[in-house]
Amino acid sequence: MQTNVSTEEKPKTTIPQKFVYFFAAGESEGNAGMKNILGGKGANLAEMTSLGIPVPPGFTISTEICTHYSEAGGKLPEWVRPAVTAAMAKVEAKIGKKFGDVKDPLLVSVRSGARASMPGMMDTILNLGLNDQTVEGLAKSSNNPRFAWDSYRRFIQMYSDVVMGMNSSLLEVTLEDLKEEKHYKLDTEMTVDDLKILVKKFKDLVHQMTGQSFPADPWEQLWGAVSAVFSSWNTPRAITYRELHSIPASWGTAVNVQSMVFGNMGDDSATGVAFTRNPSTGEKAFYGEFLINAQGEDVVAGIRTPQPITKIAAAASGQMSLEEALPHAYNQLVEIYKKLEAHYRDMQDIEFTIEKGTLWMLQTRNGKRTAAAALKIACDMIDEKLITEQEAILRLEPSALDQLLHPTLDPKAQKTVLAKGLPASPGGVNGQIVFSSEEAVEWKEQGKKVILVRVETSPEDIAGMIAAQGILTSRGGMTSHAAVVARGMGKCCVAGCGDVDVDYRNETMKVKGYVLKKGDVITLDGSTGEVYLGEVKTIEPKLEGTFERIMKIADGVRKLKVRTNADTPKDAQTARNFGAEGIGLCRTEHMFFGPDRIDAVREMIIADNKTERERALAKLLPMQRDDFYQLFKIMDGLPVTIRLLDPPLHEFVPHTDEETKDLAKRIGTDFERLRSKVKSLHEFNPMLGHRGCRLAITYPEIYAMQVRAIAEAACQLISEGKKLIPEIMIPLIATDKELDTLRVLTVNEVKKVQAEKGIKFDYQVGTMIELPRAAITADSIAEYADFFSFGTNDLTQTTLGLSRDDSGRFLGTYVSTGILPKDPFMSIDQQGVGSLVRMGTDLGRRTKPHLKVGVCGEHGGDPDSIEFFHRVGLDYVSCSPFRVPIARLAAARAALLGKKLH
Ligand code: PEP
Ligand code: MG
Repeated sequence: MQTNVSTEEKPKTTIPQKFVYFFAAGESEGNAGMKNILGGKGANLAEMTSLGIPVPPGFTISTEICTHYSEAGGKLPEWVRPAVTAAMAKVEAKIGKKFGDVKDPLLVSVRSGARASMPGMMDTILNLGLNDQTVEGLAKSSNNPRFAWDSYRRFIQMYSDVVMGMNSSLLEVTLEDLKEEKHYKLDTEMTVDDLKILVKKFKDLVHQMTGQSFPADPWEQLWGAVSAVFSSWNTPRAITYRELHSIPASWGTAVNVQSMVFGNMGDDSATGVAFTRNPSTGEKAFYGEFLINAQGEDVVAGIRTPQPITKIAAAASGQMSLEEALPHAYNQLVEIYKKLEAHYRDMQDIEFTIEKGTLWMLQTRNGKRTAAAALKIACDMIDEKLITEQEAILRLEPSALDQLLHPTLDPKAQKTVLAKGLPASPGGVNGQIVFSSEEAVEWKEQGKKVILVRVETSPEDIAGMIAAQGILTSRGGMTSHAAVVARGMGKCCVAGCGDVDVDYRNETMKVKGYVLKKGDVITLDGSTGEVYLGEVKTIEPKLEGTFERIMKIADGVRKLKVRTNADTPKDAQTARNFGAEGIGLCRTEHMFFGPDRIDAVREMIIADNKTERERALAKLLPMQRDDFYQLFKIMDGLPVTIRLLDPPLHEFVPHTDEETKDLAKRIGTDFERLRSKVKSLHEFNPMLGHRGCRLAITYPEIYAMQVRAIAEAACQLISEGKKLIPEIMIPLIATDKELDTLRVLTVNEVKKVQAEKGIKFDYQVGTMIELPRAAITADSIAEYADFFSFGTNDLTQTTLGLSRDDSGRFLGTYVSTGILPKDPFMSIDQQGVGSLVRMGTDLGRRTKPHLKVGVCGEHGGDPDSIEFFHRVGLDYVSCSPFRVPIARLAAARAALLGKKLH
């Protein structure tokens, strides 16, 4: 391809050899494997064309040009134009019409299409190429002036909004005013003359508001539209969506220019979207919606509530289905969706238009689905022999399982049903109602739970949707913006709830005789579409059905064991129900905070000497023994790692004079003495202070009591015929000498208990590796350790020198500017902290080849980190109970991905 680069344009990125890809029946320059440069939409349009599926001819401008566009400061480089002009000429030749021809004009759509689908995030322009002359040509050639002028007014609305940055509601209000003046209810009642007046008014308004004339030259329109698509990659809503889904800014979007087909040419025309299986439940049933005599955006924008495609689905609502309205096109659509699903071997989300009875496909992509649907579809496709078990595991997104691990509404709870809408995205949630996205964000920041109530949502509402527990809309269908985006986020959504009358001005919603104000509480059931008054009780989820089946497949594949971080019997039980293979971290300090024991802990802390301290510790001993007994019993033979006391002592003492006075009274000590003790415990940097094993180096009796409690609980269980191997873990070790000292203390105490009880049991003494020095000297430390567990929370804090308590304030900026790829406390910094994990593991195993090594920081539940830990060769990860299934799946994926690489 000839490229002319003027001297003032010196792109940093190399100009690609080819960057415009043509597609039309019999000639397709791209394919589905080219998503990186063609974007998802462009790659699939090319692929569908090759499959012989009817796709309107067009071309894709590659994602690389998006980067050039940004580098040029938001300008389309001159050298892009000749290639686009050439591609347009090919489209003209295929269609037999000319772009800008006043007699029979070729019109085009201009759409974005990134590598990963970003529903509703990028802008689309339809009917491009219309002006005062071509509209007359279209009116004549189509023999339908109303259609031509309706297309023109739509084009001005879209173009002035997307390209010229005008507030779209101004034109909308003009349209509504005209309808009111003429006493029309529907847009379709507007006559040709009305539309002509409207077009004139629109253009005048555009001029008035933007100071620019509406462009009449089709080429000027096209360059404007292409530039607007590239610019929309960097709109705040696109950035928010990218951040939410970890999509790098560098990917860019492609631009698809395609000849128009019209769904608004009368009652034999329609437009619709469909899923080859139900995206909410996964049921194997063709599922979609359409509108007769409409253009694509009408369905997604939720302006008119669409009708179901199939007869069966329509029967319930008494609406007319596509199957009945346009049976020929419907049958063709069925044939195509089956072909597409078999070809892509996955559930497809498709868009189509029927122009005068002829079907055209405008898009196919792997459909977004809820976690429940993902599991059902995966299991069904295994049974249909469409995919293997391993493929099923690789397709499932571990973190999406989170949706299934949240409480659902208790079917037995008392409920007052307010209304029933569409079950757009499942889940049972309650919260206070708010009517704007901004308010949802503000209230969430104040710690409130909110439900965002809107007539319909638009991409501007993304931040509010993220902040809300759930979303309720009064308009729009199952494929409306609210429904699609909520499903993608795994957020509960009830859409198209027509009985709810939303009044933004008064901030109320009227339903069934109730008038609910901002702040009132409602509950949504996204699985049934029901809306309830007040808060409805919820129940804990269970692992069963397809979820259980997929977990079993994952267990057969993974190498990493999955344990849980649990300090209470309830958490331990929940984790076991979710398949935890033991406890990897029991933080014993959490057991110190109970109201019945905190005073004894405080007595121990303020003790002036060892005798006083031992007296206080003796009070704690039976309580701790009972705690451990229960955990061992629930875990029934599985490994249980008990970590000895970790936080600095000042965390347990009162902070105000008032509280100190109360405590002094309760434990019978002098206020002043207590106050000065509290003061003396103050540290400037407690995270690096007197905590972890350092507490036991100075006060060995604290750990001695805890070890005794563990040993006594073990003896009791053994005498009851139970099996167990306690793992005693020492935190915050920096040197081998510390561990040597505390190991001796531990072994001596266990020996004493065993001698007293006359019972022997096996146990292990290990350490956390959570300081860089420990990782670097892990070979020496391993001399005294039966196991290592990486405390990646502290290891991240100390390696990056980032306070785990304070860095939240500025880490967001680090991530949004790309200085750090992700929050290192959520996903392990593989290059830095990860290197220490690898080094610590390798050094430890150099001393003890079979040293058991795990991780118990928050990263143990993060899928990307789990993949890394698998590669390093750890034995297990430990995470919070609700992340156990996520970790099981992530570990299986890691094993499969590892195999693929080798
Ligand atoms: C850690 O530091 O990673 C860890 C698990 O310990 P804690 O979070 O209790 O400091
Ligand atoms: Mg720690």
